[in-house]
Amino acid sequence: MSVPFSQMWTVASYVMGRQLRGVKRYPLVLMLEPLFRCNLACAGCGKIQHPGEVLRDELSPEACFKAVDECEAPIVSIPGGEPLLHSRIAEIVNGLVARKKYVYLCTNALKLEESLEQFTPSKFLAFSVHMDGPREEHDQAVCREGVFDDAVRAITAAKQRGFRVTTNTTLYAGMDANRIRVLFDQMMDLGVEGMMISPGYSYSKAPDQDHFLARQQTVSLFRAILAGSKRRWQFNQTPLFLQFLQGNVDLECTPWGNPTYNLFGWQRPCYLLDEGYCESFDELMATTAWHEYGRASGNDKCQDCMVHCGYEPSAVAATFGSWQGFLRTIQLQLGVPLRPQNLRELPPPDVPPESPSAAPVGSSNRRVRLPVLK
Ligand code: SF4
Ligand code: SF4
Repeated sequence: MSVPFSQMWTVASYVMGRQLRGVKRYPLVLMLEPLFRCNLACAGCGKIQHPGEVLRDELSPEACFKAVDECEAPIVSIPGGEPLLHSRIAEIVNGLVARKKYVYLCTNALKLEESLEQFTPSKFLAFSVHMDGPREEHDQAVCREGVFDDAVRAITAAKQRGFRVTTNTTLYAGMDANRIRVLFDQMMDLGVEGMMISPGYSYSKAPDQDHFLARQQTVSLFRAILAGSKRRWQFNQTPLFLQFLQGNVDLECTPWGNPTYNLFGWQRPCYLLDEGYCESFDELMATTAWHEYGRASGNDKCQDCMVHCGYEPSAVAATFGSWQGFLRTIQLQLGVPLRPQNLRELPPPDVPPESPSAAPVGSSNRRVRLPVLK
């Protein structure tokens, strides 16, 4: 199973509890960035462009725990930078696991194998390994040869020691859909428990500005990748988010769903945009002009964004926020196409030549509008 049942239950009861209490905005995943330092310099990265003194700095475990306790989100994702470069990362992870948080430690895996002995396998801990394509494409994306093979070795070692391992794949313009399908097969062969896929965000600071996807390009690429989606492919994402990426479902961004805490404080408004910082989580929630963000706001910076950190919380809330949403998700899991409502025809998908002609699991060429969370 790509996500432990206990995690699904925790998230479902958390969301339903918040909704029953009428809480309008609540976080789902805390994005905890304990440092910005990295041992790679990927062309599409917008996180490592800081002065030396910032790159050398780290959040203390105490600061991490305070942020986690303030925010109360049931899931904590630890990106960076490269978290395994943090001098006290095991202390941070173990403290979060002791708090029964579901922790996803995002890593490029260069230091994973040598770091494994610091950690204990647990249903609360998964290593989420950065994998942007099969060997050639991944090494190109991370701008260094041999990284794909290192990551495969590390995944194998982690699996052998009983750790949960997932992958995260960020896609850019020019990707060949069939090659991403090859990657999915390779990852399933390695025994990873779930894959996460997302388009990259067009960071203005990233060195490569030529390969970010516009919205319709994202839809075309994900339709091509997921056409005839194989049942063996396990994604640790909601079926609704995968439908959203294929343009079959409309969702609005939920920027507060994945709040970000890092060396500067609570980042406004989301993981991708960097428009000021707050000292406390309550201040972030109370004082951010949320209506200025998301596609419907008209904000230029949001128009092409379909990134998981903005839209996966919307999909989760739509899944567990009503019986209708929950049944719709079951329907998708079972491969039953969505019933069209508020239809808008989209251009046909660019189905890759090797794809079977059968309709993708749970797919439809129709767009369904779900309740928009505000
Ligand atoms: S591994 Fe991640 S944090 Fe490091 S440079 Fe690449 S994208 Fe940025
Ligand atoms: S649409 Fe994207 S960039 Fe805009 S607020 Fe949401 S997550 Fe951030």
